[in-house]
Amino acid sequence: MFRCVLAVEVGKASHIGCVRLVNEDAIFIGTRLFAVADGMGGHAAGDVASRTALEVLAGLDAGPVSCDGLRARVVAANEAVVQYGRSHPQGLGLGTTVAGIALITENGAPHWAVFNIGDSRVYHLGDGLVRQVTVDHSEVQELVAAGLISRREARRHPSRHIVTRAIGEWPAPLLDVVVVPAIAGHRWLITSDGLTAEIEDDEIALRLGAGEPAADTAAQLVAAALEAGGHDNVSVIVVDVTDTQGGPPAPAEQTTPRDRIEPP
Ligand code: MN
Repeated sequence: MFRCVLAVEVGKASHIGCVRLVNEDAIFIGTRLFAVADGMGGHAAGDVASRTALEVLAGLDAGPVSCDGLRARVVAANEAVVQYGRSHPQGLGLGTTVAGIALITENGAPHWAVFNIGDSRVYHLGDGLVRQVTVDHSEVQELVAAGLISRREARRHPSRHIVTRAIGEWPAPLLDVVVVPAIAGHRWLITSDGLTAEIEDDEIALRLGAGEPAADTAAQLVAAALEAGGHDNVSVIVVDVTDTQGGPPAPAEQTTPRDRIEPP
């Protein structure tokens, strides 16, 4: 029987950056779950928010994951952050993004549930093509979607830091989930905006596709962000799928209802 644990090679790097006084990003690396969170909020509450959210999400890694289970954990993570905010008035306005990939089984085959809230991102490299899979929940993303500004302009726009969904809101924000087959040879990048605000997609794609090991690629991406100014904390996880240990995905026999927003 198929066991839903893949062979992966993982690289990670997180840096406070060149300007900030606290690293409010957090990273979780498990066997089924890989996630980045980017905290916000005054008086060092941002790092509590990102850490708290990932601590709750980490419970998913103990056993098989489902999309429903993922959603439930995100709601629980949201509650934990909201609760912390209520009991610590100095943490007013605290919140965090979250983005990641979680290994699930669909139609008997391994798949990744790619998820996000806020403007941390997941990129995918397969068949030589790099694509951003998640859609930012941010004011500038809405302007890009409306055709009012370009992706490049979004990176310099005054509203570029304003997210439209975050963990720590009440009621809980909607989680976007995209489910894709897990395929050996594919590479995933999970990143906070400290990378994507500093360097162009072209450069991210170039470094992801250079054929370097995951750990080296993660280090190089963070180094590039620091070289470009390092205005924010920057955190990345690179996941290489080396073996899926399962047969080819069986075709779906029925519709699979999902709450999701179509990528651009
Ligand atoms: Mn950030």
